[in-house]
Amino acid sequence: MREPVTAYVGLGANLGEPVRALQQALAALGGLPRTTLVRHSSFYRSAPVDAGGPDFINAVAELSTGLDAPGLLAQLQALEQGAGRERPYRNAPRTLDLDLLLYGAARIESPALTVPHPRMRERAFVLLPLAEIAPRLVTPSELAAVAAQRIAPLPPTSLSA
Ligand code: ATP
Ligand code: CA
Ligand code: CA
Repeated sequence: MREPVTAYVGLGANLGEPVRALQQALAALGGLPRTTLVRHSSFYRSAPVDAGGPDFINAVAELSTGLDAPGLLAQLQALEQGAGRERPYRNAPRTLDLDLLLYGAARIESPALTVPHPRMRERAFVLLPLAEIAPRLVTPSELAAVAAQRIAPLPPTSLSA
């Protein structure tokens, strides 16, 4: 048996019921084979980047997993499909997007999987929730570099709806 690896997953949605989709996705992540949900950030609302459509709801989850990285990606894609994800065009609005941000200290460059996620350090909607749950993984200068991007914590009242 392989040792469990700490992995970080970025969650996003801006179609349908994004808050519910993220809540269900978090529960499903904790239910993946050989995987536990260690913690997750609060939910944030962010303006779409390189895309039209409604604001996104975003969060980051920390997993401890015995799955290998391609196996975890396959599970994430199955959860996206289960949430009705369609890909009509690049950066289209989506019911659920699950990106594998970090998989331990692994560096992976295959056609289907690049880890660390190549665009994560450019994105406030990744860096703010990641810094909330894993402050040592994000530097102040990285946060400063994305400070112009519109993002705000979701008020707790909107989580109960
Ligand atoms: P972005 O990757 O810029 O956030 P996106 O999430 O909208 O864009 P998708 O359409 O969800 O892009 O994914 C396109 C492809 O990216 C997937 O088919 C997947 O194989 C590939 N991919 C490569 N690296 C990763 C990763 N670290 N996490 C998730 N998907 C990845
Ligand atoms: Ca993405
Ligand atoms: Ca994706």
